[in-house]
Amino acid sequence: MPRSLRLLLATGNAHKAEEFSRMFREAGLSCEVVPATAVGGMPKVDETAGTFAGNARLKAEALRRLAPSDHWVLADDSGLSCDALGGAPGVDSAVYAGPRATDAENRAKLLGALRGIPVSGRAARFTCHLVLLGPEGEDMEFTGHCEGSVLEAERGVGGFGYDALFVPKGQSRTFAEIPAGEKDALSHRAQAFAALAAWFRLG
Ligand code: IMP
Repeated sequence: MPRSLRLLLATGNAHKAEEFSRMFREAGLSCEVVPATAVGGMPKVDETAGTFAGNARLKAEALRRLAPSDHWVLADDSGLSCDALGGAPGVDSAVYAGPRATDAENRAKLLGALRGIPVSGRAARFTCHLVLLGPEGEDMEFTGHCEGSVLEAERGVGGFGYDALFVPKGQSRTFAEIPAGEKDALSHRAQAFAALAAWFRLG
């Protein structure tokens, strides 16, 4: 891994940027995480690929075009997939209740869609797909999953998105009740990030 590496994050989501910055710090990777605002903000990308991998690549390539040539670019696409809903909200997680939906509106829509489905049928998983592009043509992808289930009512006030509805497998608390540092060890982003960190350490 090169010294003084600069890595631009292809997200306008402050929560995700914060989680990634914390993970880089805690992994001890000598890397300066630069928000997309440093190059004028994350360009608008129509997330039309239909897969987490495809959407992550669209975001990475859009930011690569703006990024200084010596910077790395890291893009992610993530979301929650419910078995009982055929994988929904999936790649539409951020806009499930509409193009300008708030997290609370998305959670309310999910609760409605799952109404009447017993706990045993509420299995779901978060997925995070990362695309990492380097200044010398490096092009890597990493995926992480976090299995769990969706509750029948919200619990907890931390986190963002669907955190207050999602209980990871083996846990009794929702992601919104689990402290950020602990979520970093369990989450889909953490799993994908661990693979990325291992790749950087080998390089
Ligand atoms: P993206 O920005 O297109 O990747 O959309 C991600 C969406 O998935 C977010 O807006 C959230 O609704 C949901 N999501 C992804 N990761 C998490 C998480 O860690 N907790 C809760 N919701 C998440």
